[in-house]
Amino acid sequence: MSVKHVPHWIGGKPWQGPAERRGDIHNPATGRVSGTVGLGGPEEVAAAVAAAKAAFPAWRDTSLARRTEVMFAFRELVRAHRDELARLISAEHGKVVSDALGEVSRGLEVVEFACGIPHLLKGGYSENVSTRVDAYSILQPLGVVAGITPFNFPAMVPMWMFPIAIACGNTFVLKPSEKDPSAAVRLAELWAEAGLPDGVFNVVHGAKEAVDALLTHEDVKAVSFVGSTPIARYVYSTAAAHGKRVQALGGAKNHMVVLPDADLDLAADAAVSAGFGSAGERCMAISAVVAVGGIADDLLAGIKQRVARLRVGPGDDTRSEMGPLVTREHRDRVASYLESGVREGATLAVDGRVHPVLGGEPDGFWLGPSVLDHVTPEMSCYRDEIFGPVLSVLRVDTYEEAIRLVNANPYGNGTAIFTNDGGAARRFQNEVEVGMVGINVPIPVPMAYYSFGGWKNSLFGDSHAHGTEGVHFYTRTKAVTARWLDPSHGGVNLGFPTNG
Ligand code: NAD
Repeated sequence: MSVKHVPHWIGGKPWQGPAERRGDIHNPATGRVSGTVGLGGPEEVAAAVAAAKAAFPAWRDTSLARRTEVMFAFRELVRAHRDELARLISAEHGKVVSDALGEVSRGLEVVEFACGIPHLLKGGYSENVSTRVDAYSILQPLGVVAGITPFNFPAMVPMWMFPIAIACGNTFVLKPSEKDPSAAVRLAELWAEAGLPDGVFNVVHGAKEAVDALLTHEDVKAVSFVGSTPIARYVYSTAAAHGKRVQALGGAKNHMVVLPDADLDLAADAAVSAGFGSAGERCMAISAVVAVGGIADDLLAGIKQRVARLRVGPGDDTRSEMGPLVTREHRDRVASYLESGVREGATLAVDGRVHPVLGGEPDGFWLGPSVLDHVTPEMSCYRDEIFGPVLSVLRVDTYEEAIRLVNANPYGNGTAIFTNDGGAARRFQNEVEVGMVGINVPIPVPMAYYSFGGWKNSLFGDSHAHGTEGVHFYTRTKAVTARWLDPSHGGVNLGFPTNG
């Protein structure tokens, strides 16, 4: 059977370079190879950066009116093709199509935010800061900027970056995950159809070799990264050492604190939705449920009842609520935490290895939803980011113990509190050392006009993604002080300019 090939996209067209190295793409629901992807290195990165560099001067000088027109056209095209994009994502990632549609919609929100770029790029103006002297600021693009993205949101996470970067006047090189690369190339085709000039948006596939070439290339001015914490730390330090602006978003261990007065049905619904949606392969997934003050047995009963009913199956089957994991190796690694958890003293309350799979092929990368109870902070299933369908339940007596636990964790991406006590929720929002907080909301992913980012080991750098922080990251400010000649210029003055 012939399999499709996903090429790099450089200078407005598929890359036709010589002797390309290739990697396999799998369909996680069947376990079979469904395609190949080019694996780029320094040569392909150099070509993409050169195309982006050549496109920069004209794109930077393209009027805001025209740039906005292209953004609106891209928005319409992504909307029109969202079903197709969702199917591409599902076939390579494994997530169910309805979930993939959700990811495309959340990415589109950032495109819509970027459609308002003329307003976002307004500087300040102060008249007469000194006698007949005016001061103003302008925001200018950086040049060629790069985005390096993870497998778990092959459309949404790149769309956190490139709509704003491009609307600001930069040109972009995307290095998507080599596990599910097709959505990135389809988005590149849609950009071309929207009228984006060749070279403004480029895609280089690959893994470490391609990333390293981007991090060290002298013409790349800024790097946005989203992925696991060890690679985020590496990208941050390497790119910064090469003089680049960097934002590097890392992994997570998201706690959901349930206080004794919470609505336990709501909390159980939320724990199951946020723990097992996208098979737990979301950086904002809930992985640790912290049951406070004697409610754990009731909450766990509610969770078990709901988990038993979850329909696991292929992502393109509308009956499926949860698909397979992304690769065989990842599935095996996730499953190993069920064994290590029990070895270290946890109770396996639900074993996902025996969960039925509806209509799935036996070689698919299946693992059903699992729940570990009586988990404690020293266990590896708690310390490590599992990034799969495993929910850990921790039992504590008081709110103070819960907040100490959350704040002692080295990650700080997302968290949620479930309670009917406004005072407790307000205290939690004030005290918790986490970048994104939900109150009776389990996956508090900020809207596009706010910014997305965690604290501590979940983000290296000082700008969060999208929103006004995204505009700030992809621009540099110039402050201008201007005097137009008039007869009162006053002659030579060696003093330091002051207002007068
Ligand atoms: P990953 O860190 O393995 O890969 C991310 C990117 O880095 C990919 O493009 C990959 O090709 C590249 N890469 C991998 N190994 C590399 C190396 N040694 N040197 C240089 N580049 C390398 O992450 P993943 O498995 O694709 O995605 C899952 C991870 O991403 C999880 O840890 C998840 O929490 C995290 N994530 C975080 C956020 C966030 O906003 N904080 C969002 C989504 C995913």
